[in-house]
Amino acid sequence: MNTITMRPPVAAAKADRSYWLRSIEADAATPPLQGTADCDVAIVGGGYAGLWTALRIKEQSPETRVTVLEADFCGSGASGRNGGQVHSWFAEIDMLRALVGEDDALMLCRATADAIEELNGLQASGAVDMGLRLDGWLWTASSTAQEGAWAAARDICLALGEERFQPLQRADILRRTGSDASYVGIVEERAGTVQPAKLAIGLRQLAIERGIAIHERSPVVEIAPGLRPQLRTSGGVLSAGKVVLAANAWLSAIPELHPYLYVVSSQVVATAPAPDVLERIGWTDGASICDAQHHVLYYQRTSEGTVIFGRGTGGIAYGDRIDDRFNRGGDGGADNIRELHRVYPQLKDVPVLCDWSGPIDCTAEHLPVFGHLKDHPNIFYAMGFNGTGIAQTPVAGRIMTSLVLGRDDAWSRCGLVGIGKRTRLPPEPLRYIGARVVRRAIRRKNDLEILNRKPDAVTRFLAGLAP
Ligand SMILES: Cc1cc2nc3c(=O)[nH]c(=O)nc-3n(C[C@H](O)[C@H](O)[C@H](O)COP(=O)(O)OP(=O)(O)OC[C@H]3O[C@@H](n4cnc5c(N)ncnc54)[C@H](O)[C@@H]3O)c2cc1C
Repeated sequence: MNTITMRPPVAAAKADRSYWLRSIEADAATPPLQGTADCDVAIVGGGYAGLWTALRIKEQSPETRVTVLEADFCGSGASGRNGGQVHSWFAEIDMLRALVGEDDALMLCRATADAIEELNGLQASGAVDMGLRLDGWLWTASSTAQEGAWAAARDICLALGEERFQPLQRADILRRTGSDASYVGIVEERAGTVQPAKLAIGLRQLAIERGIAIHERSPVVEIAPGLRPQLRTSGGVLSAGKVVLAANAWLSAIPELHPYLYVVSSQVVATAPAPDVLERIGWTDGASICDAQHHVLYYQRTSEGTVIFGRGTGGIAYGDRIDDRFNRGGDGGADNIRELHRVYPQLKDVPVLCDWSGPIDCTAEHLPVFGHLKDHPNIFYAMGFNGTGIAQTPVAGRIMTSLVLGRDDAWSRCGLVGIGKRTRLPPEPLRYIGARVVRRAIRRKNDLEILNRKPDAVTRFLAGLAP
């Protein structure tokens, strides 16, 4: 049988790690795999998806021996670098309904709302200290082209009797964010922010306490499939009954998955703490805020008064080869800083202390997909979180657990399982060339629309080709 070759991440240098990871000095805490070992379920990837899958399997089948193999350390991927915005899938219910139908869409959205409550419970019990603040998630518009971006999701929620979103007017947004760059929007109140690296490191600790074996600094380089797949790392070989591939954007290296996944980078900057300035402008709580540009802005303030300001860059790599630019873009966060100062001119004198990037695992439908490799019914995958994973990966853990344990239930039957009906993306070099052209058009469109100017027809057409 053909060996599956993985392409492990290029580990970020310490200076290029996220503010979140650096502020808690996160690093490896478990030994690398050495020699040979054996388990029932091997999980490749120690981010939220891998750790939630491990925890759910243990919850439901405590006798199952689960081992996580992580290339660098748990949380070193997207899970320890993200914007920390916690919100449910209700914001995507229109896309979910189109893909999986109304019943499944509602089940999945409610499951993410439950996941937010579960995170809250984990924090309240002291099990995971993650800095969760449920002060709301604001989805806003800062130009006429962005107005009503939320209308489809909000209308479906209302029709289904789910009063998840409340309208926001200019004065509400100014009062809650201290900025008048956005002037209309909606809010999901049972949502907010976390310190994402604390969440990842907390999940790692919980997994260890619950008897899950974790080996960090153990990049899986290849998997020999079979009745008992063999996972080869740089230092050892793990034999497993079943395998879960939870390696996020890096799964794009697997030829069978590559046609369904494309990888774009997102960039984040963190300012020096400026609690006085933020108090003065009235930005006091832990709400998460985003606008509705295609290259979306997402921001929050930490309880210490650091502003975290992120933006999708649309940056891509030929063949999805995720290199060092996906750890830290070369421009020192210039584009984010420009946008930060547009939204918060009051922060112009506050230094930006660090910038970093991370890869986003995108699918054409903007929703994840779960399943097993075509010829290998014991090798499963979870991928395509599309930049929205904090409340979604606990649900992914449920879906993956049902698949791995061979359960026939609402999770294993849900419409996110199975790649058959998903859109295949063009092969290289068409994909790379096309994506570059479309990305330029999107950026041009964004830059004009933010000034309430209308882009030309060619720009609109090209930007409209984005999946
Ligand atoms: C910049 C940025 C901002 C974001 N903002 C938000 C946000 O505000 N809110 C939100 O909900 N979501 C956000 N997301 C998305 C969210 O972070 C992800 O959806 C989530 O972390 C996905 O978890 P994961 O476990 O799939 O991926 P990861 O955390 O990336 O975990 C995958 C792990 O697999 C490991 N790995 C890869 N290849 C191998 C191999 N061969 N062998 C062993 N290990 C391997 C990697 O080292 C990595 O640790 C953002 C993402 C980024 C990049």
